Amino acid sequence: CGIVGIVGTSEVASRLVDALKRLEYRGYDSAGVATLEGGVLTRRRAEGKLRNLEALLHKSPLAGTIGIGHTRWATHGAPTVDNAHPHASGGVAVVHNGIIENYLALREEAVARGLHPVTETDTEVAALLVAAELADGLSPQEAVGRVLPRLRGAFALVFLFDGHDELLIGARRGSPLAVGHGSGEMFLGSDAIALSPFTDRITYLDEGDWVVVTRTGAQVYDRDNRPVTRAESRSTVGA
Ligand code: GLU
Repeated sequence: CGIVGIVGTSEVASRLVDALKRLEYRGYDSAGVATLEGGVLTRRRAEGKLRNLEALLHKSPLAGTIGIGHTRWATHGAPTVDNAHPHASGGVAVVHNGIIENYLALREEAVARGLHPVTETDTEVAALLVAAELADGLSPQEAVGRVLPRLRGAFALVFLFDGHDELLIGARRGSPLAVGHGSGEMFLGSDAIALSPFTDRITYLDEGDWVVVTRTGAQVYDRDNRPVTRAESRSTVGA
């Protein structure tokens, strides 16, 4: 129900949780974060309140300067640890708000392509299909660009890739997603409130946009994969 992503220059795990706290008002049943720890995708997920995730991170800390976080309001699959986001498969992790309506057909396809679903969620197919494209030799950007048009429903998505410690890819269709501009760091979040601890410089994605975010900037593409420029504004929510 809430999404955050950081391409940073310092540790992100606790900052991801801070941002998720600002999204608690939306309601949620479980939460999780993923980072690249020494370049390798690593996750921590917990049922219930964010303090459960915080306690887990206290017990088993998560290093890394790039990461994604999520608070979940379950629509498909019980609110368990296994169904909590981020979901991961074959070197990609994803957080998702909304519903992927055609997930059953896409899951069958993923299985036919040799991938192994391990959750009851609709979300997992986004990771599975991107993983299948990566396995076929596509770059992260090519893989996401190929999968997004195949998803039906309403969603905001953020992807994190094994071995790519400078890259997040976000997408917005029916659920909001905003880009935050820091100095030498970049952010993605469900809204400017989530990003208010980090920056007040916000770019809102338009419906159908997707965005490739690195430490120094963001390139937005429209629904037809054309590079576009979206205006940056000053948010006042943190003031
Ligand atoms: N449909 C997804 C799930 O049930 C995402 C729900 C959400 O927006 O948090 O896991």
